[in-house]
Amino acid sequence: MQKLQLFNTLSRKKEPFIPLREGFVGIYVCGPTVYGDPHLGHAKSYVSFDVVVRYFRYLGYRVRYVQNITDVGHLTDDADEGEDKMTRQSRIERLEPMEIAEKYTYRYFRDMDRLNVLRPDIAPRATGHIPEQIAMIKKLIEKGHAYETGGNVYFDVTSLPDYGKLSGRTLDEAESGLRVETSSDKKNPADFALWKKADDMHIMRWDSPWGEGFPGWHIECSAMATKYLGKTIDIHGGGLENQFPHHECEIAQCEGAHDEPFVRYWLHNNMVTLNGQKMGKSLGNAISLEQFFTGKHKLLSRAWQPEVIRFFLLQSHYRSTTDFSESALESAETGYRNLTGILDQIQRTAENAAGLASASGPESASPVSGSGSFNLQALKNGLHDCMNDDFNTARAVGFLFEKLRPLKSTLQSGNNPDNIGELSEFLTKFCGDVLGIWSPGVASAGGGENLPFEQVMQLLLDIRQDARKNKDWATADRIRNSLAELGITIEDGSGGSTYKLS
Ligand SMILES: [Zn+2]
Repeated sequence: MQKLQLFNTLSRKKEPFIPLREGFVGIYVCGPTVYGDPHLGHAKSYVSFDVVVRYFRYLGYRVRYVQNITDVGHLTDDADEGEDKMTRQSRIERLEPMEIAEKYTYRYFRDMDRLNVLRPDIAPRATGHIPEQIAMIKKLIEKGHAYETGGNVYFDVTSLPDYGKLSGRTLDEAESGLRVETSSDKKNPADFALWKKADDMHIMRWDSPWGEGFPGWHIECSAMATKYLGKTIDIHGGGLENQFPHHECEIAQCEGAHDEPFVRYWLHNNMVTLNGQKMGKSLGNAISLEQFFTGKHKLLSRAWQPEVIRFFLLQSHYRSTTDFSESALESAETGYRNLTGILDQIQRTAENAAGLASASGPESASPVSGSGSFNLQALKNGLHDCMNDDFNTARAVGFLFEKLRPLKSTLQSGNNPDNIGELSEFLTKFCGDVLGIWSPGVASAGGGENLPFEQVMQLLLDIRQDARKNKDWATADRIRNSLAELGITIEDGSGGSTYKLS
C-alpha cells in the first residue's frame, strides 16, 4: 500500500506527506467572508477540506484545524480599491457591519453543520485579531518589506525575490492584470495594502501607528495562521481562485516577516461550474445551500437533501471541477441511496448476527449461516490507496460500490460472511468518520433529521388501525412485522396502538 501523497500547488506535483512534528498536522484553510449566504462553491471547498481533516484523524494524527472568518478588509476589488464587502452589505441591509458578520457567520455554520462538515478547532475572526495584524505590519516595515504613505501601508513586492512562486506569475505578469488607479500612492502597481486609511465615512476603523484605518484582507490570514499554528505550517488550503493574489500575498507577508518557509503543502480545490460556467455570487448564478435544501430557486425543480449534496461533491476529486446540474444531482441521489442501502443492510445483519451469537451463549458463538469471509483487507487496502492518492474520494466511492454491491444478494439470501461484524465496524469508520456520508442507525435513505418521523409513524398506525377494523389482518400484520424488522415494536392497548424503538 502506498503512503499518503498530496498534490502540492507550490511544487506542482504529488509529494509524500511528512509532518513537521511527528503525529501532528496543522491545517489552515481560508474561511468565508461573512456577507452573504454560503453557496455550492463554498460547500465544495469546505466539504473537501473536511474530508482531508477527517482522514488525517483516521490515520491517527492529532490535527489542529484553523479556519478564519473574514469580517473586515475584504474589498470588492482585488486591486485594493472599492468598498469593504461587509460595509457594502450593511448598507444594503441597513444593519451594523457586526450584525451582518453575526448573521452570516451563523448561517455559514448552520449550513455546514447540515452538510456534516465538522467545525474547525479554531475559527478566529479577523476583527478579533487587529493587534496581531498591526504587530506583523510593523515588523514588515522594520524589515524593509513595507512602507507607509499618507496613512496607508503597502507591501513592496520588489523586496522579495521569489514573490509569485505559488501562482507562477512574474512581477510583470502580476502587474499587467491590475487596473492602475491614477491616484494610487503605491511604489509598484503590484504592491498590495497591509493597512488602509479610513476616510470620514468609514465605519469599521481601528487606531494604529499610521492613524485610524483598517487592515488589508491578506494580512489577517498571515497573522492568525502564525498565531495558532506557528511560523511554518504543514498544510494551507483554499479555493483555486484565492491562489492569486490572496495566497501569494500571505506567503510574502509571512516569509518577509519571519524569514522561514510559511507553508509546506499548499492544497487548492477547484470550482463548481454550472453548464461549464463558473458559479459564484459575483456572477449572479450562485445557488445558496439554503435554496438547495428548500428547493426555492428558479434553477431547481425541488429540494435536495444535504446528504445528497455532500455525496455529489465527493463524487468528484477536490482538484477537479464539479459541473452542477439537477440530472447530475439525481444520479448522485440514486447512488447515495444504493450505497447507504447496502451499508444499512450490512449493519443490520451484523447486529442480528451479534445478537444471535450472544443469545446462544459463548459455546456456540459462531455466526448463524457463515459463507466464508468477506475480503476485508482488500477493501481496506483499496480504499486507503484511493485516499492516499491525494484524497481521491471519487475513486473511493467507486471502489466501495464495486466491492459492496455483490454482497447485497449474498446477504439477502441469508449467507452472511463470518466477519460481517468487522466489516460493519470498518464501514462505520470509513463511511461515517472519514467520508461523513453515513452513520449507523440513521434513516439515511429518507432524509435523516428533516424527516417528520412522528407523523409518518402516526400515519402507519392509523392505516393499521383501519385495516384491523376492516378485519384485514394481512395488512395489519404486514405493517407490524415490517416495522419489527426495522426495530420498531407496535403495542396494541385498549386506548389504541403505540410504538416503541428497540
Ligand atoms: Zn486566507
